[in-house]
Amino acid sequence: MNILIVEDEPRIAAFLERGLKAEGFGVEVAPDGETGYALACSDDVDLVVLDLMLPGMPGEQVLTNLRRRRPDVPVIILTARDAVEDRVAGLNNGADDYVTKPFSFVELLARIHARLRARDQVTATELVAGGVTLDLRSRTARMSGREVSLTAREFALLETFMRHPNQVLSQVQLMDRVWGYDFDPGSNVVEVYVGYLRRKLDKDLIETVRGAGYRLRAGTSNGTEPAT
Ligand code: CA
Repeated sequence: MNILIVEDEPRIAAFLERGLKAEGFGVEVAPDGETGYALACSDDVDLVVLDLMLPGMPGEQVLTNLRRRRPDVPVIILTARDAVEDRVAGLNNGADDYVTKPFSFVELLARIHARLRARDQVTATELVAGGVTLDLRSRTARMSGREVSLTAREFALLETFMRHPNQVLSQVQLMDRVWGYDFDPGSNVVEVYVGYLRRKLDKDLIETVRGAGYRLRAGTSNGTEPAT
């Protein structure tokens, strides 16, 4: 997943770049509107974080131009708090979301994940990995022909694993995706819920990777899942 940051304040751009790279995203930074627009037109960019007050082409113009070329790419506006009404109200819904400065990184991250999830949901209706089939519309799981009843939280955790088959996911990544960003990092809730999934599905389905996290064992996935 590649995120483009269009931001002229080097301090903020560097802060975002560092944080998003640590979360496993590919990151590009554009320091002005023209560069931002040119980069955002590439299909390699999965989501754009766009400042509004930019040198050269203003953020609103970048968004208007970008919507003509790529109507579906998620765009999250970053804007100063005092400019929300006059600027965001004028965006005519071209943006998917906005975050006001000063902002917290976890809030922005949660919104990025939400936008990317929303986009994934329209491209995949079924995930298959590790012998499990998840129907994302009916919210049901099947394994070896039997339907497995899962709570909403168990389903969300399993979905997260199945979107990243064979990939080690850290406890923090799982908490962020499944429990939201408002969690106690010392909690053992992930371990508990992984235990539930093992009991309901297969004890070997999710492997504990000591000191790193957990991994869904999946020989192959069926390709309905966009690469991340
Ligand atoms: Ca700016």
